[in-house]
Amino acid sequence: MIYLHVPFCKSRCVYCDFFSTTNGPAWHERYMEAVLREAEQRRDELGRARADTIYIGGGTPSQLPPALLQCFFERLDAQCSLSALQECTVEANPDDVTPEWVSALKDTPVNRVSMGVQSLNDGVLGFLGRRHTAKQALEALDLLRGAGYENISLDLMFGLPGQNISQWEENVKAMLEVSAPHLSAYALQLEEGTLLAKRLAQDKTLRLPSDDEVAEMYDFLVRAARDAGMEHYEISNFAKPGYRAQHNSGYWKGLPYVGLGPGAHSYDGAFCRRWNLGSLEDYCNAPSAPFEEEVLTEEERYNETVMTRLRTSDGLNLAELDEKRRNDTLKTAKPHLKRGMMMLEEGVLRFSEQGFFVSNDIISDFML
Ligand code: SF4
Repeated sequence: MIYLHVPFCKSRCVYCDFFSTTNGPAWHERYMEAVLREAEQRRDELGRARADTIYIGGGTPSQLPPALLQCFFERLDAQCSLSALQECTVEANPDDVTPEWVSALKDTPVNRVSMGVQSLNDGVLGFLGRRHTAKQALEALDLLRGAGYENISLDLMFGLPGQNISQWEENVKAMLEVSAPHLSAYALQLEEGTLLAKRLAQDKTLRLPSDDEVAEMYDFLVRAARDAGMEHYEISNFAKPGYRAQHNSGYWKGLPYVGLGPGAHSYDGAFCRRWNLGSLEDYCNAPSAPFEEEVLTEEERYNETVMTRLRTSDGLNLAELDEKRRNDTLKTAKPHLKRGMMMLEEGVLRFSEQGFFVSNDIISDFML
Protein backbone atom coordinates (compact mmCIF):
# COMPACT_ATOMS: atom_id res chain seq x y z
CA MET A 1 0.00 0.00 0.00
CA ILE A 2 1.38 3.34 -1.03
CA TYR A 3 0.06 6.77 -0.15
CA LEU A 4 1.10 10.00 -1.84
CA HIS A 5 0.27 13.30 -0.16
CA VAL A 6 -0.31 16.20 -2.55
CA PRO A 7 -0.26 19.37 -0.45
CA PHE A 8 -1.83 21.82 -2.89
CA CYS A 9 -5.26 23.46 -2.88
CA LYS A 10 -6.53 26.20 -5.15
CA SER A 11 -8.24 27.89 -2.20
CA ARG A 12 -8.88 27.02 1.44
CA CYS A 13 -12.21 25.68 2.65
CA VAL A 14 -13.44 27.35 5.83
CA TYR A 15 -13.50 24.19 7.97
CA CYS A 16 -10.18 22.65 6.94
CA ASP A 17 -6.98 22.45 8.95
CA PHE A 18 -5.17 19.94 6.68
CA PHE A 19 -1.69 20.79 5.58
CA SER A 20 -1.77 22.34 2.09
CA THR A 21 -0.63 25.48 0.27
CA THR A 22 -2.53 27.62 -2.24
CA ASN A 23 0.74 28.58 -3.94
CA GLY A 24 0.99 25.26 -5.78
CA PRO A 25 2.17 26.23 -9.29
CA ALA A 26 5.38 27.66 -7.83
CA TRP A 27 6.12 24.29 -6.21
CA HIS A 28 4.73 21.57 -8.48
CA GLU A 29 7.96 20.61 -10.28
CA ARG A 30 10.19 20.78 -7.20
CA TYR A 31 7.62 18.86 -5.19
CA MET A 32 7.50 16.03 -7.71
CA GLU A 33 11.30 15.85 -7.91
CA ALA A 34 11.40 15.52 -4.12
CA VAL A 35 8.69 12.82 -4.16
CA LEU A 36 10.62 10.82 -6.73
CA ARG A 37 13.81 11.22 -4.71
CA GLU A 38 12.02 10.00 -1.60
CA ALA A 39 10.61 7.00 -3.52
CA GLU A 40 14.09 6.09 -4.69
CA GLN A 41 15.58 6.43 -1.20
CA ARG A 42 12.80 4.26 0.27
CA ARG A 43 12.88 1.68 -2.48
CA ASP A 44 13.31 -1.26 -0.04
CA GLU A 45 10.34 -0.19 2.06
CA LEU A 46 8.23 0.29 -1.06
CA GLY A 47 9.09 -3.23 -2.13
CA ARG A 48 8.12 -4.65 1.27
CA ALA A 49 4.84 -2.70 1.46
CA ARG A 50 3.67 -4.09 -1.93
CA ALA A 51 2.07 -1.76 -4.45
CA ASP A 52 -1.32 -3.48 -4.53
CA THR A 53 -3.13 -0.24 -3.70
CA ILE A 54 -2.09 3.37 -4.22
CA TYR A 55 -3.98 6.32 -2.80
CA ILE A 56 -3.23 9.86 -3.90
CA GLY A 57 -4.73 12.23 -1.36
CA GLY A 58 -4.39 15.78 -0.22
CA GLY A 59 -4.80 18.65 -0.34
CA THR A 60 -6.23 18.49 -3.81
CA PRO A 61 -4.39 16.00 -6.04
CA SER A 62 -6.44 17.12 -9.05
CA GLN A 63 -4.54 20.43 -8.80
CA LEU A 64 -1.35 18.64 -9.78
CA PRO A 65 -0.63 18.85 -13.54
CA PRO A 66 -1.54 15.43 -15.02
CA ALA A 67 1.88 15.18 -16.69
CA LEU A 68 3.48 15.14 -13.22
CA LEU A 69 1.07 12.46 -12.10
CA GLN A 70 2.01 10.36 -15.13
CA CYS A 71 5.68 10.92 -14.36
CA PHE A 72 5.10 9.78 -10.74
CA PHE A 73 3.62 6.45 -11.85
CA GLU A 74 6.32 5.81 -14.45
CA ARG A 75 9.12 6.41 -11.96
CA LEU A 76 7.37 4.55 -9.16
CA ASP A 77 7.07 1.52 -11.42
CA ALA A 78 10.87 1.52 -11.62
CA GLN A 79 11.17 1.44 -7.79
CA CYS A 80 8.52 -1.18 -7.08
CA SER A 81 6.64 -2.99 -9.80
CA LEU A 82 3.05 -1.85 -10.23
CA SER A 83 2.08 -5.13 -11.88
CA ALA A 84 0.11 -6.25 -8.78
CA LEU A 85 -1.76 -2.95 -8.53
CA GLN A 86 -5.46 -3.56 -7.92
CA GLU A 87 -6.84 -0.25 -6.76
CA CYS A 88 -5.40 3.16 -7.55
CA THR A 89 -7.37 6.12 -6.21
CA VAL A 90 -6.97 9.82 -6.81
CA GLU A 91 -8.89 12.48 -4.92
CA ALA A 92 -10.41 15.21 -7.07
CA ASN A 93 -12.34 18.41 -6.66
CA PRO A 94 -15.34 18.48 -9.03
CA ASP A 95 -14.29 21.74 -10.70
CA ASP A 96 -10.93 20.22 -11.67
CA VAL A 97 -12.62 17.34 -13.47
CA THR A 98 -12.47 18.70 -17.03
CA PRO A 99 -12.45 16.65 -20.27
CA GLU A 100 -8.68 17.34 -20.54
CA TRP A 101 -7.98 16.19 -16.99
CA VAL A 102 -10.04 13.02 -17.39
CA SER A 103 -8.39 12.22 -20.69
CA ALA A 104 -4.91 12.63 -19.12
CA LEU A 105 -5.99 10.46 -16.19
CA LYS A 106 -6.70 7.64 -18.62
CA ASP A 107 -2.94 7.49 -19.28
CA THR A 108 -2.27 6.62 -15.63
CA PRO A 109 -3.10 3.46 -13.64
CA VAL A 110 -5.81 5.37 -11.70
CA ASN A 111 -8.97 3.24 -11.62
CA ARG A 112 -10.87 4.92 -8.80
CA VAL A 113 -11.75 8.57 -8.19
CA SER A 114 -12.79 10.00 -4.84
CA MET A 115 -14.61 13.29 -5.32
CA GLY A 116 -14.95 15.89 -2.59
CA VAL A 117 -18.56 16.78 -3.40
CA GLN A 118 -19.55 17.41 0.27
CA SER A 119 -23.06 18.61 -0.61
CA LEU A 120 -25.43 19.02 -3.54
CA ASN A 121 -26.79 22.24 -2.08
CA ASP A 122 -25.18 25.38 -3.53
CA GLY A 123 -25.88 27.43 -0.40
CA VAL A 124 -24.00 24.89 1.73
CA LEU A 125 -21.13 24.64 -0.78
CA GLY A 126 -20.75 28.43 -0.85
CA PHE A 127 -20.78 28.63 2.93
CA LEU A 128 -18.07 25.95 3.19
CA GLY A 129 -15.87 27.82 0.73
CA ARG A 130 -15.94 24.99 -1.80
CA ARG A 131 -15.14 26.10 -5.33
CA HIS A 132 -17.72 23.98 -7.13
CA THR A 133 -21.49 24.02 -7.51
CA ALA A 134 -23.86 21.06 -7.35
CA LYS A 135 -24.20 21.22 -11.15
CA GLN A 136 -20.43 21.01 -11.60
CA ALA A 137 -20.30 17.99 -9.29
CA LEU A 138 -22.94 16.18 -11.35
CA GLU A 139 -21.21 17.11 -14.61
CA ALA A 140 -17.90 15.83 -13.23
CA LEU A 141 -19.55 12.54 -12.37
CA ASP A 142 -20.94 12.25 -15.89
CA LEU A 143 -17.54 13.03 -17.40
CA LEU A 144 -15.83 10.37 -15.32
CA ARG A 145 -18.48 7.80 -16.14
CA GLY A 146 -18.34 8.71 -19.80
CA ALA A 147 -14.61 7.96 -19.72
CA GLY A 148 -15.23 4.53 -18.19
CA TYR A 149 -14.65 5.29 -14.49
CA GLU A 150 -17.25 3.36 -12.55
CA ASN A 151 -15.43 3.06 -9.24
CA ILE A 152 -16.24 6.50 -7.88
CA SER A 153 -16.54 7.59 -4.29
CA LEU A 154 -18.33 10.75 -3.17
CA ASP A 155 -17.59 12.58 0.09
CA LEU A 156 -20.32 14.35 1.97
CA MET A 157 -20.45 16.34 5.18
CA PHE A 158 -23.11 16.77 7.81
CA GLY A 159 -23.59 18.53 11.14
CA LEU A 160 -22.89 21.86 9.44
CA PRO A 161 -23.87 25.28 10.82
CA GLY A 162 -27.44 26.10 9.89
CA GLN A 163 -28.06 22.62 8.46
CA ASN A 164 -31.39 21.12 9.45
CA ILE A 165 -32.71 17.60 9.17
CA SER A 166 -34.94 18.16 6.15
CA GLN A 167 -32.13 19.85 4.16
CA TRP A 168 -29.88 16.95 5.02
CA GLU A 169 -32.47 14.37 4.00
CA GLU A 170 -32.89 16.09 0.64
CA ASN A 171 -29.14 16.14 0.17
CA VAL A 172 -28.74 12.46 1.02
CA LYS A 173 -31.53 11.52 -1.39
CA ALA A 174 -29.91 13.57 -4.16
CA MET A 175 -26.52 11.96 -3.45
CA LEU A 176 -27.99 8.45 -3.53
CA GLU A 177 -29.93 9.20 -6.69
CA VAL A 178 -26.70 9.60 -8.68
CA SER A 179 -25.89 6.06 -7.62
CA ALA A 180 -22.15 6.28 -7.02
CA PRO A 181 -20.96 2.92 -5.68
CA HIS A 182 -19.15 4.39 -2.65
CA LEU A 183 -19.96 7.16 -0.17
CA SER A 184 -17.88 8.59 2.68
CA ALA A 185 -19.82 10.80 5.10
CA TYR A 186 -18.21 12.77 7.88
CA ALA A 187 -19.73 14.88 10.62
CA LEU A 188 -18.08 18.28 10.81
CA GLN A 189 -15.28 18.43 13.37
CA LEU A 190 -14.81 22.04 14.33
CA GLU A 191 -11.04 22.60 14.37
CA GLU A 192 -9.49 25.44 16.30
CA GLY A 193 -7.92 28.19 14.20
CA THR A 194 -10.04 27.54 11.09
CA LEU A 195 -12.01 30.32 9.46
CA LEU A 196 -15.20 28.50 10.42
CA ALA A 197 -14.25 28.42 14.11
CA LYS A 198 -13.60 32.17 13.97
CA ARG A 199 -16.89 32.86 12.19
CA LEU A 200 -18.83 30.82 14.72
CA ALA A 201 -17.16 32.69 17.58
CA GLN A 202 -18.00 36.08 16.02
CA ASP A 203 -21.48 35.47 14.58
CA LYS A 204 -23.86 34.34 17.30
CA THR A 205 -26.64 33.76 14.73
CA LEU A 206 -24.65 30.83 13.33
CA ARG A 207 -25.55 27.67 15.16
CA LEU A 208 -24.20 24.15 14.94
CA PRO A 209 -26.82 21.38 15.03
CA SER A 210 -27.16 19.72 18.44
CA ASP A 211 -25.67 16.26 19.10
CA ASP A 212 -29.17 14.77 18.85
CA GLU A 213 -29.75 16.42 15.47
CA VAL A 214 -26.38 15.17 14.20
CA ALA A 215 -27.26 11.67 15.43
CA GLU A 216 -30.59 11.91 13.58
CA MET A 217 -28.77 12.95 10.38
CA TYR A 218 -26.42 10.00 10.68
CA ASP A 219 -29.30 7.64 11.36
CA PHE A 220 -31.16 8.86 8.28
CA LEU A 221 -28.05 8.42 6.14
CA VAL A 222 -27.44 4.87 7.40
CA ARG A 223 -31.02 3.82 6.67
CA ALA A 224 -31.18 5.55 3.28
CA ALA A 225 -27.85 4.11 2.15
CA ARG A 226 -28.92 0.63 3.25
CA ASP A 227 -32.24 0.99 1.38
CA ALA A 228 -30.21 1.98 -1.69
CA GLY A 229 -28.35 -1.36 -1.50
CA MET A 230 -25.19 -0.06 0.12
CA GLU A 231 -23.30 -1.88 2.83
CA HIS A 232 -22.35 0.19 5.89
CA TYR A 233 -18.90 -1.34 6.22
CA GLU A 234 -17.13 1.30 8.28
CA ILE A 235 -18.39 4.03 10.63
CA SER A 236 -18.26 6.67 7.88
CA ASN A 237 -18.22 4.54 4.73
CA PHE A 238 -20.84 2.88 2.57
CA ALA A 239 -20.32 0.73 -0.50
CA LYS A 240 -22.28 -1.20 -3.08
CA PRO A 241 -21.24 -4.87 -3.23
CA GLY A 242 -17.67 -5.17 -4.52
CA TYR A 243 -16.85 -1.48 -4.03
CA ARG A 244 -15.33 -1.29 -0.55
CA ALA A 245 -12.26 0.96 -0.55
CA GLN A 246 -9.41 -1.53 -0.57
CA HIS A 247 -6.71 0.95 0.42
CA ASN A 248 -8.53 2.33 3.45
CA SER A 249 -9.61 -1.19 4.40
CA GLY A 250 -5.90 -2.00 4.52
CA TYR A 251 -5.39 0.75 7.12
CA TRP A 252 -8.19 -0.68 9.22
CA LYS A 253 -6.67 -4.17 9.00
CA GLY A 254 -3.28 -2.86 10.16
CA LEU A 255 -1.42 -3.62 6.92
CA PRO A 256 1.92 -1.93 6.22
CA TYR A 257 2.02 1.16 4.02
CA VAL A 258 4.52 3.70 2.79
CA GLY A 259 3.50 7.36 2.73
CA LEU A 260 5.37 9.67 0.39
CA GLY A 261 5.22 13.47 0.36
CA PRO A 262 5.31 16.15 3.06
CA GLY A 263 3.35 15.20 6.16
CA ALA A 264 2.68 11.65 4.90
CA HIS A 265 2.57 8.79 7.43
CA SER A 266 3.99 5.28 7.08
CA TYR A 267 3.61 2.07 9.09
CA ASP A 268 5.60 -1.14 8.96
CA GLY A 269 2.59 -3.24 9.91
CA ALA A 270 4.09 -4.23 13.27
CA PHE A 271 6.01 -1.86 15.53
CA CYS A 272 7.03 1.32 13.79
CA ARG A 273 5.22 4.43 12.60
CA ARG A 274 6.95 7.29 10.85
CA TRP A 275 5.79 10.57 9.47
CA ASN A 276 7.39 13.07 7.19
CA LEU A 277 7.49 16.56 8.60
CA GLY A 278 4.98 18.97 7.10
CA SER A 279 7.08 21.81 5.71
CA LEU A 280 6.94 21.81 1.90
CA GLU A 281 10.09 23.89 1.73
CA ASP A 282 12.11 21.49 3.91
CA TYR A 283 10.68 18.51 2.04
CA CYS A 284 11.77 19.90 -1.32
CA ASN A 285 15.14 21.30 -0.25
CA ALA A 286 16.52 18.67 2.12
CA PRO A 287 18.65 15.90 0.55
CA SER A 288 16.23 13.42 2.09
CA ALA A 289 12.73 13.94 3.47
CA PRO A 290 12.88 15.02 7.13
CA PHE A 291 10.84 12.65 9.29
CA GLU A 292 10.20 11.42 12.80
CA GLU A 293 9.32 7.93 13.95
CA GLU A 294 8.10 6.08 16.97
CA VAL A 295 8.28 2.49 18.07
CA LEU A 296 4.91 1.40 19.37
CA THR A 297 4.66 -0.17 22.80
CA GLU A 298 2.59 -3.30 23.30
CA GLU A 299 -0.19 -1.13 24.79
CA GLU A 300 -0.17 1.24 21.82
CA ARG A 301 -0.37 -1.69 19.42
CA TYR A 302 -3.35 -3.06 21.32
CA ASN A 303 -5.05 0.35 21.23
CA GLU A 304 -4.51 0.67 17.49
CA THR A 305 -5.76 -2.84 16.82
CA VAL A 306 -8.95 -2.28 18.80
CA MET A 307 -9.55 1.18 17.38
CA THR A 308 -9.08 0.27 13.74
CA ARG A 309 -10.83 -3.11 13.74
CA LEU A 310 -13.89 -1.87 15.63
CA ARG A 311 -14.38 0.94 13.11
CA THR A 312 -15.47 -1.65 10.57
CA SER A 313 -18.41 -3.99 10.26
CA ASP A 314 -15.88 -6.87 10.10
CA GLY A 315 -15.08 -6.09 13.73
CA LEU A 316 -12.31 -7.34 15.98
CA ASN A 317 -11.46 -11.02 15.82
CA LEU A 318 -10.52 -11.77 19.41
CA ALA A 319 -8.12 -14.49 18.20
CA GLU A 320 -5.81 -11.60 17.23
CA LEU A 321 -5.22 -10.91 20.93
CA ASP A 322 -3.30 -12.88 23.55
CA GLU A 323 -5.30 -14.51 26.34
CA LYS A 324 -4.95 -11.71 28.87
CA ARG A 325 -5.91 -8.97 26.42
CA ARG A 326 -8.77 -11.10 25.12
CA ASN A 327 -10.20 -11.51 28.62
CA ASP A 328 -9.78 -7.80 29.43
CA THR A 329 -11.43 -6.85 26.13
CA LEU A 330 -14.41 -9.10 26.83
CA LYS A 331 -14.76 -7.63 30.30
CA THR A 332 -14.85 -4.08 28.87
CA ALA A 333 -17.27 -5.12 26.15
CA LYS A 334 -19.72 -6.75 28.57
CA PRO A 335 -21.90 -3.69 29.44
CA HIS A 336 -21.98 -2.61 25.78
CA LEU A 337 -23.03 -6.12 24.72
CA LYS A 338 -25.75 -6.03 27.34
CA ARG A 339 -27.09 -2.68 26.04
CA GLY A 340 -27.11 -3.97 22.47
CA MET A 341 -24.41 -1.52 21.33
CA MET A 342 -22.04 -4.37 20.48
CA MET A 343 -22.36 -7.96 19.29
CA LEU A 344 -20.15 -11.00 19.79
CA GLU A 345 -20.45 -13.73 17.17
CA GLU A 346 -18.02 -16.58 16.59
CA GLY A 347 -15.25 -14.79 18.46
CA VAL A 348 -15.69 -11.52 16.57
CA LEU A 349 -16.64 -8.38 18.47
CA ARG A 350 -18.37 -5.65 16.49
CA PHE A 351 -20.71 -2.72 16.86
CA SER A 352 -24.42 -3.03 16.27
CA GLU A 353 -25.91 -0.46 13.88
CA GLN A 354 -27.09 1.48 16.93
CA GLY A 355 -23.62 1.32 18.49
CA PHE A 356 -21.79 2.57 15.41
CA PHE A 357 -22.76 6.21 15.96
CA VAL A 358 -21.53 6.32 19.56
CA SER A 359 -18.57 4.10 18.75
CA ASN A 360 -15.98 6.78 19.54
CA ASP A 361 -17.18 6.97 23.14
CA ILE A 362 -17.33 3.21 23.47
CA ILE A 363 -13.93 2.63 21.87
CA SER A 364 -12.38 5.00 24.42
CA ASP A 365 -13.42 2.52 27.15
CA PHE A 366 -11.07 -0.05 25.62
CA MET A 367 -8.04 2.21 25.44
CA LEU A 368 -5.12 1.40 27.77
S1 SF4 B 1 -9.87 21.20 -0.84
FE1 SF4 B 1 -9.72 19.68 0.81
S2 SF4 B 1 -7.65 19.88 1.64
FE2 SF4 B 1 -8.05 21.73 0.40
S3 SF4 B 1 -8.78 23.25 1.86
FE3 SF4 B 1 -10.59 22.23 1.02
S4 SF4 B 1 -11.02 20.52 2.43
FE4 SF4 B 1 -8.93 21.25 2.85
